[in-house]
Order: sequence, then C-alpha cells, then structure tokens
Amino acid sequence: MPSSSPSVPGCCFSFFSRKNRQQGEPPKAAISTSGYHAEVKRNIPSAHQHLEPCCSPTQGFMSASVKPFLDDLPAYSSDGKSLSSDVRETIKATIESYRAPLTAISLYISDNPELAYKEYKSSAKLISFLESEGFAIEKDYKGLETAFTATYSQGNGRTWAFNSEYDALPEVGHACGHNLIAIGGVAALLGVRAAMKKHGIDGTVVLMGTPAEEGGAGKVLLIERGGYKGIDGCMMIHPAGFTANSGGVLPTLAFQTIAVEFFGRTTHAGAAPWDGINALDAANISYTSISALRQQLHPTDRVHGIIVDGGEAPNIIPDYTSMKYYVRASRASGVEELMAKAIGCFKGAAEATGCKLKFKTEPITYDLRNNKLFGEEYASAMSELYNVPIPIELGEGTNPGASTDFGNVTYALPACHPMFGIPATLGRGNHTKEFRDKCRTEEAHTETLHAATAMSIVGARFLSDSAFAEDATEWWKDDMKS
Ligand SMILES: [Zn+2]
Ligand SMILES: [Zn+2]
Repeated sequence: MPSSSPSVPGCCFSFFSRKNRQQGEPPKAAISTSGYHAEVKRNIPSAHQHLEPCCSPTQGFMSASVKPFLDDLPAYSSDGKSLSSDVRETIKATIESYRAPLTAISLYISDNPELAYKEYKSSAKLISFLESEGFAIEKDYKGLETAFTATYSQGNGRTWAFNSEYDALPEVGHACGHNLIAIGGVAALLGVRAAMKKHGIDGTVVLMGTPAEEGGAGKVLLIERGGYKGIDGCMMIHPAGFTANSGGVLPTLAFQTIAVEFFGRTTHAGAAPWDGINALDAANISYTSISALRQQLHPTDRVHGIIVDGGEAPNIIPDYTSMKYYVRASRASGVEELMAKAIGCFKGAAEATGCKLKFKTEPITYDLRNNKLFGEEYASAMSELYNVPIPIELGEGTNPGASTDFGNVTYALPACHPMFGIPATLGRGNHTKEFRDKCRTEEAHTETLHAATAMSIVGARFLSDSAFAEDATEWWKDDMKS
C-alpha cells in the first residue's frame, strides 16, 4: 500500500527521496569513482546555526527542524550494491508473516502499561514468544529483572543487536508507543534469523529487552554492567507523531538532572528575622541567577527547574529548601559545561545567603550519535521497499528537545535510532493519550513492520558484508573524536 503514493509531511521530509530507483539497483548519485571514502560535499549546519522550524503537521515530541542539506549525499555502498534483493525479500516476507502474533503482543503490552523497571508482564510476554520461536533466552539480564536477551547464532562472525523498549508513562500509559518499539525489535530479529538460515549468513543476532527508558536510564545501567560488551553494532526504532510514510534519522539532546538542597536556620520572621538564615532566599537567588544565565545560552541548550520545598509558613524563615533542575545541550560535553555554570549559580546563592549547599547529579544521558552508514542503509531500504523518504541529520544544528538513553549506546558502539512516523492529530504527538490510541491502530502496526524490515536489513548487511561493518565501525571511531 505505501509503495505507491507517500504522504510527505511537508518540507522536513521532502528530500532524500530515491523513490524512482529500482530495487537492487545502485544509488544513482552514489558511487564516486574514487570509492566511498571520497569526500562528499555537504552543507552541514554549524553547531548552533538557526534552522527553519519544521512544518510537520503534528511535530510530535521531536520537532524535526532539519534542512535538506544531504541532497547530494550518496548512500553508502562498499561494492556498489546493498544486500541482494533476495535477502531483502526474505526479511520482508518473514516479518510480514508474523504480523498477527506481533500485533497481538503489541496490544497486550499497550493494555498492560508498566512503569520503569516494573515491566514484568510485558517482558514475560515477549520472552514467552521468543522462547516458543526457539531463541536462546537469558532472563534477568545483568541483574535487571525486566531485562533479557534472545539470541540466534550460526557459524563464526560479528554480533548484531536490536533493542526493544516496553516501559510506559504514568497516567497516559503507552503514549510513547513503546508497545510498537517492543515488537519492532522482535520483528527485526526474526527477519535477520530467517536471512541467516536461508542465505548462509554467519554470526550472531541478539534482541536485548531494555527496561526503563522513560526515566530510570535502563540502557545506561546495562552499559555500566557490561551489557553491550561483545556487540559490534546495534539499532532500535521509535515511533513519532508525524504522518504515515515518514520518519528520519535525527539527533536528540543530551541531558542531566541535578537535585539541590539549601540548609539555613529558622527564626521568627517578624520578631527576630536577623537571627535567621533564609534558605528560600538561596533558592530564589539560584533561580534568578540561572534565569540571567539563560540569556547567554545557545538556542539548542535548555536549563529548566522547579522549587520542590519552599518553606512551611510565612512567619518562619525557612531553614530548608530544595530544587530540581534539568540541563540539556546538543552534546554531552555541552551538558558538562552548562552544568558547571548552573552549579556556579547554586554556589553563589549559598555564599550570598550563608546557607549550606548540597547537590547530587545523575549520570548524563547522552545525545544520539547516529551511525551514518546504518542510517543510509536504513533510508535506502525504506525508500526502495516502501517509497518513504528518510532525512538524515547527523549534526548538532537541530533542536529536537527530547532525549533518550539510547544516546549512551551510540557512544558505546556503532548504533542508530531512526524515528518512524505514526499518523497523529495536530499537536497530539508522543506523551498524549491521543497518540497512545494511535499506536494501537492497524496503520501504526504497518508502519512499525516497515521500519522493522528496514532495520532488519541493516542488521543482515552488517553480518554479511565485512567492508560495510568495518567502515561503519571506522566511521563511528572518527565521529567519537569530534
Ligand atoms: Zn517518551
Ligand atoms: Zn519513547
């Protein structure tokens, strides 16, 4: 159905189209005679260059303010060809054949929303299906009760992983569409296994069930505990409130939280105010200092916070206040710099008021450093199989606003996290009840299986094409230097 007339959601997605290419044919503008290492002229926006706001009709949580700067960027190809059309067809047909059970699992997860680290029913449902399909299962992965792996191996070779999320949000349930992410990973796993068996591709493919994305940073814990050791490449897909037949490989912001406490001394605010040390003044000065700091921030940076405790009664000088802040920037390094400035504001306020200061920061959730080669292979598959144009934005110039713990995965190994469009009502994208309901429709499941097919194709190519795998890894190493 979507292979005939894509509904392009405005200027953001009107580029990177290769819809007229035949399947299996090398990309037209693609291969330079000097090979794929040849420099490609690109107009990459600088780190904080202003870009036009997206005209996507819903904008979801990810305002895809991307500019068509990759028009002349060829798709990656190590030998002028991607996977053979036979392998692609095996993957596509296999995934489509599982549509009914995968849809049932997705709706079950949506019907049973569970919060971070409490995804007992959802993980059990996925595990029981994967066990029945003959995958080797490891439960309680790295000591996390709701994390697991499902593995298929044959011969010797590289190891590729997909990630499935299945945690929900408070109040609004599966309003981020993680029920779709869950089955997207399963579908991609089934596709790669079928390709390995039928076409003699050696290696290992793993599905990692990763809990606690919506708070809890489950993947950060898994990385710390060695959960990604031995994995050579990794992908996951995420739905967004765009339109059907849309999506993108887009960055997200890095972020870090800080909890702050000020300790002063109580006194009667009317009778003896001079005997007090006012902790609310320290919170107030912090808030004002950070508001002044905000004027000097780059357009992509964010500092936002609240006063959690502000005192007990107007006639008591407060001896205790607490605050919570989020600091966001387009790179993890930017978060570190900005956090140092915010901490300076808290220290200054403590000094000015005579209060004692305590603060605690959580680990940084990194920005997404999507692997260019994986993104291009994914875009190529989406274009050729489904006529869906996928813009690729690898720079820091956009202002997506959201963050994900998969960002840390992209720093740990070559990895990619494309977004795919779910038709949503204007202004009712991710984290709304309306979007939750859209993520239960047949159309949403079709979009998920298409994105999962494209992701599965990237995995199969990574296992079967050594040059592609090596170059993706080299690209990642270079990217980590910047
Ligand atoms: Zn979310
Ligand atoms: Zn999400």
